[in-house]
Parts: sequence; structure tokens; C-alpha cells
Amino acid sequence: MAKIPAPVQKNEIIDVEFEDLTHDGQAVAKIEGYPLFVAGALPGERGRIQATKLNKGYGFGRLIELQKTSPFRQNPECPIYSQCGGCQLQHLSYEGQLEAKGKQVRDVMERIGKLKDVTIHPVLGANNPWRYRNKAQVPVGEENGGLVAGFYQKRSHSIINMEQCLIQQEKSDEVIRKVKAICQRYGVKAYDESKHKGTLRHIMARCGKATGEVMVVFVTRTEDFPHKKEVIKEITEQIDGITSIIQNINPKKTNVILGDTTKVLWGNEVIYDYIGHIQFAISARSFYQVNPEQTKVLYDKALEYAGLTGEENVIDAYCGIGTISLFLAQKAKKVYGVEIVPEAIEDAKRNARLNGITNVEFSVGKAEMVIPHWYKQGMTADVLVVDPPRKGCDEALLQTIMEMKPKRVVYVSCNPSTLARDLRVLEDGGYKTLEIQPVDMFPMTTHVECVALMTRMEK
Ligand code: SAH
Repeated sequence: MAKIPAPVQKNEIIDVEFEDLTHDGQAVAKIEGYPLFVAGALPGERGRIQATKLNKGYGFGRLIELQKTSPFRQNPECPIYSQCGGCQLQHLSYEGQLEAKGKQVRDVMERIGKLKDVTIHPVLGANNPWRYRNKAQVPVGEENGGLVAGFYQKRSHSIINMEQCLIQQEKSDEVIRKVKAICQRYGVKAYDESKHKGTLRHIMARCGKATGEVMVVFVTRTEDFPHKKEVIKEITEQIDGITSIIQNINPKKTNVILGDTTKVLWGNEVIYDYIGHIQFAISARSFYQVNPEQTKVLYDKALEYAGLTGEENVIDAYCGIGTISLFLAQKAKKVYGVEIVPEAIEDAKRNARLNGITNVEFSVGKAEMVIPHWYKQGMTADVLVVDPPRKGCDEALLQTIMEMKPKRVVYVSCNPSTLARDLRVLEDGGYKTLEIQPVDMFPMTTHVECVALMTRMEK
């Protein structure tokens, strides 16, 4: 399709109708077929905008005023919503958010996946779309001699102080608030990014929703942490549920939050949590789903789609700390998990032992290397589960799936576009997509998670 030149001038003010919402929460207005993306508006609304940036094929505008509002519009609950950027959909009712996410999935399955006769179920929403995140991770800075901790202002590196975050568990707010005050009292210096000086870079809080256990992680530039003893003592006295205080040292000039060295300052190296009946040990550096309640909904669906009877060999690719593998192991003959991060595999093995689950085996490596290797050695699977990062599955892995021919493929995905792309590849290789279930793991943001069930058509 030829790229349409902009039918408007830069800075021109125009009245438009908004039709759609992009995957990052901007509204789309089309002028003679030319799309303009505008933050803050909603589909079905009409408003006045100023064209701010015009490229070939698409441009951006700034909302000046709304002339007609959507019945799904609501006032954002959070006072710092417009500055923060962590949430993108607070101005849309929760019902409206679920509908928008469902439409996003249906659109890409049609446009990118070219899928026909697929049942795409309505998005499974959360019972409570607020206060769900079990992990808070805030950068620390200094302002007028005091410590601030919160978030980076949109498109900048200045830190804005945050007293509460409405999608985070209340406990995290309390932990961050108290830890900040304690550090302030003992004169702990914030890290200064521009000079690469100071101590404290980030404070992280993780809460086990089911156990009430709390971990605090100090990410520091140096190993030396002034008044460490006093700070630890105050934290243990002031915060109920604290079971682990960790220091992570990150001496590098980098945007990456965690460094390579981790020390236990007080208590345990891990906190525990449950998803369903399965217990997980979570260390400071491991990936763990941030919304445990909706994770259960997602994994139950993945387990249902796997259709296990107890006789199956199952491969779980991109298994992380073994969360899905251990769920599957309850109903499978044997589960083989593959994951690239060695520490995650250590956690996965520990989690299997913790739950007395013996029919799982975990291997470190790239899924696209390990699974082809297994296949060459004669291994096959009845069911294959994948849960890749946003970029989707590697082509070599998809190729091996088509050769190995498992009866069912269950694809868990945090990015509908790459899911649609990969489903297309597998459809062309003899699979049929039967159902897709979107699950809302991240209310108030534009993210949507999906689980898809594919079955082998050809022998
Ligand atoms: N299934 C897990 C983790 C999903 S996140 C859960 O639900 O908790 C995706 C995981 O894929 C991450 O743990 C990441 O480390 C891992 N990963 C990324 N690239 C990989 C690759 N090429 N091969 C195997 N694992 C990979």
C-alpha cells in the first residue's frame, strides 16, 4: 500500500472523529485515510486537535478539546496519571478497556494472522482492576536535599515523587514510603545518574500475595551502604511481614535496574507465594508474574487447552521459574522445561522440590537450540507449550514444532501481534488454531495476554 502524504499542515488545527485505539492507547483519527495518533482521546469521540508531527503514512496530534465524549470515558482515579505513563487507559472504564483489548486481539488475528473460523473469546477481566501488582520498583533521586522515589517523568530522566500507585498492592506503597523515610533520616545519598555518584539507585518491594511475606531490595551503586545496620533494624521494626532484605549492587552506567551481585542483608534469600496450590520461592532477580490472581486464570486455561490425561510427554518452552511446567506436571506423565536464564532454572528445580513434584526436568538453554537438539536425538512430545517474550518464538523453534508434530500446541503470549504472526506460520505448517482466550493481566495498561490452542491437522 502506498504511503499517503499528509493532507494537513504541521500545527494546523482541525476537528476530527476518533475511530480506534492503538496498542499503546492512543486514539486514531483518519483524515482522507491518513491516520493521526492522539493521546487522551477515545474511539467514538469527536474533538479539536493540533497536528504536531507529520510523517509519510501517519502523523501525531495533540488534543485541544473534546466536543463529544464516549460513554465509556471515566475520570482517571490517579492524581499523577497524566505525568507518569505507567498506565495508559485510566480514562476508559474497565468495561471499555476489556472491549478495546478484545478488539485489538481480533484485529491482529485477522490482519496479521489471516485466521479464519477461530473462536476468540471475550477478554477475561479481573475481579478488581486496581491494586493488583505484587512488585514495585522505584528509582530514587534527590530534590532540595530530600529523597524522592517514584517514576521517571515521561520522555525524561527526572524523578517524580510518588506517594501511592493505584495498580500496586497497598503494602508496596507502605514499604516504599517507610523505606524512603528511613533512608532519608540516616542520610543515605541517592544515586546521581549524571555524575555517576551517590549510593541508592532503586528501591524494590515484592509481596507474596498469598503469604503476606515482603522482600525489600536496595539497588546500590557501591557495595558500601552507609548506616546499613540502623536502616535494617528500623525496617524490621516498622514493616509487618518483612522476611527478606536484599542488597543488589549495580556499579554500571546503565538503564538496566539490577546488577550482577546480590547479598542477603537480613532474613531469607527468597519470599514465598502460591499460585493455586503450588508454592513458589522467588528470589530478587527472578521473573515472577506481577498479577498472581489473573496468572491463575491464565494458567488454568493453558492447562485446560493442554487436554492432559496423565499419559502425555509435554515440553514447556520459555519456562522461567517453572510456573507453567509445575501446573502441567499435576496432570502430565512428564514435563520438560527449557529456559535461557540459569538462575531461573535453579529456581524452577527448587520449586519442583518444594512441591514434591518429581515428573519434571528443567534444562538451561535457548528453546530454539535445545528443542531441535532433543528432536534430533529422537525425542517427541504430545503437547508443546510456549510462553515466549514479546518478540515471539524463534523461527528455528517453529520449524522444529512442525517437524516434531505434537498433537497440540498451547501458545501463551504477551504480544498479540507476534502471536498472530507465529500462529500463521504454524497454520501453514499443518496446524489449526481452535480457540484464543485473552486474559487481562494488566488492568489500566494497554497490555493483554492471550492463550491459544492449536491442533495438528495433518499426520
Ligand atoms: N513461563 C514463565 C516465563 C515467561 S516469560 C512464566 O509464566 O512465569 C518468558 C521467559 O522466556 C523468560 O523467563 C525469559 O528469560 C525466557 N527466554 C527468553 N528468550 C528465550 C529463549 N530464546 N529460549 C528460552 N527461554 C527464553
